[in-house]
Amino acid sequence: PAGPNLSTDAARQPQKLPSGVVLGKDGKPCRTCSSGAAFAAFASQAKSTLKSGAFPGALVGAAVSSSSLPPPAYTPPADCPPDVAVLGRSTWTLLHSIAATYPTTPSQQEQKELKTFMGLFSRLYPCWVCAEDFQGYMAKEQIRVGSRDEFGKWLCEAHNAVNVKVGKKTFDCARWEERWRTGWKD
Ligand code: FAD
Repeated sequence: PAGPNLSTDAARQPQKLPSGVVLGKDGKPCRTCSSGAAFAAFASQAKSTLKSGAFPGALVGAAVSSSSLPPPAYTPPADCPPDVAVLGRSTWTLLHSIAATYPTTPSQQEQKELKTFMGLFSRLYPCWVCAEDFQGYMAKEQIRVGSRDEFGKWLCEAHNAVNVKVGKKTFDCARWEERWRTGWKD
């Protein structure tokens, strides 16, 4: 059976959204910019409103009842589209793995390609708030692609800047290669 079309129906309303739901540039809730818990609360809110038949007006200013909120340690099913954290983890894995396999002495062409890739990446990243901040970081902290270690450390520092922004612990960049290439020494 067709479920509610959350991306069009509920999102059409200037509703009171559960905290943590980030809107996309199209004004609709953005799954890849929001936490899974926040997005699930929004989906549940929209669904129950549709079920009650009160839609379309009822979501405006509606409070999210505690029963519609997922538990705080909510983990989205593995086969759901990614939320901001799942997308972020997968992306960091890709980026640090690119650093780990980048040549120790890259050619001019390889350096150019990596710069181009990172520039495009920062514009195409599917969480727009994350992307804009990352573009800002790249404008401030010029990318370093002169060697594997140079890029690995630059990327580690960029990741740390996001860690600080989202309130996570920073990582010791002296150990980036152990984490992403060789495995831990001890
Ligand atoms: P992650 O931060 O995803 O890290 C994965 C693993 O990398 C960690 O377990 C650790 O072993 C290792 N690691 C951690 N730090 C470093 C480091 N500095 N260098 C090397 N390895 C490290 N989320 C938001 O909520 N808001 C944002 O604005 C935002 N911006 C982002 C921008 C980008 C470009 C990316 C790729 C992601 C962004 N994210 C953002 C997602 C966020 O960074 C995390 O990916 C997400 O919160 C999940 O975190 P995590 O604890 O699983 O670990």
